[in-house]
Amino acid sequence: MTGDGAPILRMVLAGEHDVFVLRQRGREVAAALGLEHQDQVRVATAMSEIGREALGAEVTFAAASEPRPHLVIVVSSAAVGNQALEGVRAAGRLMDEVRVEDERIVLTRRLPAQVDPERIEQARNDLARSTPTTALDELSVQNRQLVTALEEVQAHRDELLHLNAELEETNRGVMALYTQLSEELEQTNQGVVALYAELDERSAQLREANEAKSRFLANVSHELRAPVTAIIGLTRLLLDPRSEPLTSEQTHQLGLVQGSAADLLARVNDLLDLAKAESGRIEPNWGPIDLVAVFGQLRGTLRPLARPEVQLDVDEPPAAGLICDELLLTQILRNLLTNALKFTDRGTVGMGAWVDADRLLIAVTDTGIGIPFAEQARVFEEFHQVRGARQAGGTGLGLPYARRLAALLGGALTMVSEPGEGSTFTLSLPLRPALPEDAQDEGPLPQVERALVVDDDPAARHLLRQLLAGIADEVYEAADVRSGLAIAVRERPSVIFLDLRMPGGDGTVLLADLAALPDVAGIPVFVVTAADVSDFAPQELAHARSVLAKEQLTRRAVVDLVAGLRP
Ligand code: ADP
Repeated sequence: MTGDGAPILRMVLAGEHDVFVLRQRGREVAAALGLEHQDQVRVATAMSEIGREALGAEVTFAAASEPRPHLVIVVSSAAVGNQALEGVRAAGRLMDEVRVEDERIVLTRRLPAQVDPERIEQARNDLARSTPTTALDELSVQNRQLVTALEEVQAHRDELLHLNAELEETNRGVMALYTQLSEELEQTNQGVVALYAELDERSAQLREANEAKSRFLANVSHELRAPVTAIIGLTRLLLDPRSEPLTSEQTHQLGLVQGSAADLLARVNDLLDLAKAESGRIEPNWGPIDLVAVFGQLRGTLRPLARPEVQLDVDEPPAAGLICDELLLTQILRNLLTNALKFTDRGTVGMGAWVDADRLLIAVTDTGIGIPFAEQARVFEEFHQVRGARQAGGTGLGLPYARRLAALLGGALTMVSEPGEGSTFTLSLPLRPALPEDAQDEGPLPQVERALVVDDDPAARHLLRQLLAGIADEVYEAADVRSGLAIAVRERPSVIFLDLRMPGGDGTVLLADLAALPDVAGIPVFVVTAADVSDFAPQELAHARSVLAKEQLTRRAVVDLVAGLRP
């Protein structure tokens, strides 16, 4: 039996009475080997569970030291293995390990410490001497143990209750802290909300003040224009050769009055322009831009302003398909070129354009006096003129106005300048404007299912498509009269926008074809043209619902046209 440790006690389960003895012996061995009270009860209970099912078996209690000190109980019986062994399962829950091998059950329980051989010997002798108790004695021991166990359970329960109470108190503390933090957070939030409300109010006040300033500027300039124009008119009248002759001195003085009045009018006009741009009263008139024509016109009108030592170089612009407001674009560029010519004594003033992704960039460069670094950010402020720079007239409103217009066109105006070397102003514009999306401002939009745009210019078609956004569910495009007619017959659009001058057949041909086909004759056609309508005979345009110049093509105009279609 060496593998099962040093034997301490051996007994045979002869009859039912021995189950009580086995229980008692189990407890005694456990106690002798230093197991605690609770463990002694475990071993004793495991023994009575096993004992009930193993009558006739021989039971050996032993102490083993490998791999750790433990109690080994071996129950040997030929009957083991043939039974349901419910007791084995119960014992399994009480002992560390219970294995069923052939014809024996081995149960183990760890011992708290190594047991020396002397103690084992002592236990062996003590147990040999002690007499087994009766079943009644064992029952009373068992009862006492039960009472102790119940007391222990009660103690555990009390401890648990106590712990729960403590936990609850902690929870209450945490909840109080949480509530306090929430309240503080709430208060902070209220503060932030109040701060935002105040900020909103301040910015509303600022906006109002700004609007009042723009209104004031607009009113004053408007009021000033009338008397200044009167002065100009009157001096012109006095200087007219048909008026009463004047002395040469009078003529000279009147010439000066006229010059000053013209100057004053120019400045008042600057003010009025800026006030209008600021108050948002300028609405761009979007249309396809002929950049070559715009650049050509600027080149022609501004060349006379260049000093003899200054060369004006206006490059050929690219065919960009730009959609913009021609008048406003020209105003910006004229402004930049006039400044460049004003502040350049020798060298070159140049203008060039190029396309970068979906933007058109136009740069105006000069080799003039440049702008001191400290002043660069300020030249876009109203009325700001560079201190110490040569006084060249002007109001200091040109650049702020140009920047306002650039923003109005969806673009930006920037500048780099090197004092003494020159400046470059760059205007960046979207090739296609982002047209107003906020339909709320426009009121309820009229609706059509399908619209057809017939125009050979892709930029013009794109513009109409944008203008019809939110109005037409579907927009078809055709680049010539033939495909226009094919789409009209196939899709039966609710409305057609038609260009007049197109390669491969004028729009008037399509008008006539549509009128001749009963299925499509009723479709309303709006003619939108850059051509001079008087070039066409009235009967050629008779089938058009209305004729519109391309410059008149605005969102408002399209909304009104489509709204007018409703029965
Ligand atoms: P104005 O030309 O009517 O004075 P602007 O707003 O057009 O007003 O320009 C503001 C100031 O910026 C000018 O007075 C001038 O000092 C400076 N400035 C503008 N353009 C140039 C330039 N190309 N070179 C040097 N200085 C310039």
